[in-house]
Amino acid sequence: MARKKNHKYIFVIGGVMSGVGKGIATSSIGYLLQAKGFSVNLVKVDPYLNVDAGTMNPTEHGEVFVLKSGLETDQDMGNYERFLDRDLSSEDYMTSGQVYLTVLKKERALEYKGKCVEAIPHVTEEIRRRFTRSAEVSGSDITVVEIGGTVGDYQNMMFIEAARILNLKNPDDVAFILVSYLPVPGNIGEMKTKPTQNAVRQLNSYGVQPDIIIARSASPLDEKRKEKLSISCSVPEENVISAPDISSIYDVPINFEKEKMGDILMKTLRLTTRVKKDGLATWKKFAGSVHAATEEVKIAVVGKYFDTGDFVLSDAYLSVIEAVKISSYKVGRKPKLTWINSKEFEKGTMDVSILKEFDGVLVPGGFGESGIEGILLAIRYVRENKIPYFGLCYGMQLACIEYARNVVGLAEANTTEINKNTLYPVIDIMPEQKKLLADGKYGATMRLGVYPAHLKFKTIAREVYGKDVIEERHRHRYEVNPEYIGHLEKAGLVFSGTSPDGILMEIAELPKKVHPFFLGTQFHPELQARPLNPHPLFTAFIKAVVERSKKK
Ligand code: GLN
Repeated sequence: MARKKNHKYIFVIGGVMSGVGKGIATSSIGYLLQAKGFSVNLVKVDPYLNVDAGTMNPTEHGEVFVLKSGLETDQDMGNYERFLDRDLSSEDYMTSGQVYLTVLKKERALEYKGKCVEAIPHVTEEIRRRFTRSAEVSGSDITVVEIGGTVGDYQNMMFIEAARILNLKNPDDVAFILVSYLPVPGNIGEMKTKPTQNAVRQLNSYGVQPDIIIARSASPLDEKRKEKLSISCSVPEENVISAPDISSIYDVPINFEKEKMGDILMKTLRLTTRVKKDGLATWKKFAGSVHAATEEVKIAVVGKYFDTGDFVLSDAYLSVIEAVKISSYKVGRKPKLTWINSKEFEKGTMDVSILKEFDGVLVPGGFGESGIEGILLAIRYVRENKIPYFGLCYGMQLACIEYARNVVGLAEANTTEINKNTLYPVIDIMPEQKKLLADGKYGATMRLGVYPAHLKFKTIAREVYGKDVIEERHRHRYEVNPEYIGHLEKAGLVFSGTSPDGILMEIAELPKKVHPFFLGTQFHPELQARPLNPHPLFTAFIKAVVERSKKK
């Protein structure tokens, strides 16, 4: 698809410090533009040299969000898709690593025809090519680009420079937004604008003037500070948006709209709204349901990376948490998640019977050996005690291993990810994966992205999805070993979803008459759960959770 004439770009840049909600601000801007009747794609620029996010540790860098295409990206891409309720493409994500890799490959192929290859202009040209390409591929009216990092970082300078040039060539079609932070130092008790003034000055030194400042702070901005920022940063007063801390990220688009952000964007980009009615009505309904849900349901998340503290976990499992929340709000409940480190069960410092205190148990994806025996103890307990269970990827594989060990009677059943020489490799590496690892090819080599699955009639999965064929996103190297499918099925486990050729097992479940909800997926349903489109499997799990909470 060609880029539309007068295609608009908005660049979102951070000031003062990171971690102030630039991703949510970008997502909300995207939603507001959609609500004005425009089609929008959101782009994340990550200044690091990794080619994608797949090789990074989630407890350090947040979850790896997998796009439909299979590209492993930053968690912000998940926020974008959730707010827009739209699939984004590989072209909507770029890292410095990707940019340099392309430039260096071109250099090796003599494509620069003997020229000296330099950061400027060749790297910035490649960045601009990528901005334009994402607009073309998406076919959208407006592209909103979030530049990672903060103004003043060396790493993101090239991206800001590329944006500056794009603005120079199309001044009517480009806008800059600075998301800045206004601290309220405890000993002074007053909101300070100076760091933001300095951030704008720094941005000015790059040749970029922000059109809008989103002023993040603990409390709302008063008129005095708006005026001060306006005068010192040369931004019209109405374009200084007050963005105080709030309890639900889903209120951000509504708060922006209270500050007339939609109209300001229209004016800045020389556009007129395409809708007459309140484009935010459906969003407001969802955002309202977040606050309306007060009755709690208690869900234990049992996993292995859990010795890092709750703060880190909320990033490492962002999509899982959001998927649970979204489905809970849909049925009018507020989820209370408790993180349980499965190593505690192994060491005996916590007894698995603690799980009966919960209304449901979830085991998310993961890799490697540590804490796995503890997870298996937990799965056995919830299966035998009929506590709703939802296993995602590793959580499904481990449910199959637990079933093989304790129901089929193959006591040493395991995954070859943990024990290469296990007697019963119920979960085994895919043959093509074996070769990749032997060659040391780790990056972007898993089974990644969307694959179809066929659902079996008269199963929970078929009933919940309401259709025969589904498409879900994957990220794994191991599979249910075809040699054990017969044994597991004979013992009562149902493979309700398989690859179209019937070889790969995509969903395992126990019939409702045996267990209220015991289901695992080889794919990651959490990646496609959205506020305005909750994921049916998460909703089914939460419904079972609610049922149990009523009985207690
Ligand atoms: N470690 C398992 C595999 O590679 C599961 C991966 C996951 O949970 N994402 O197959």
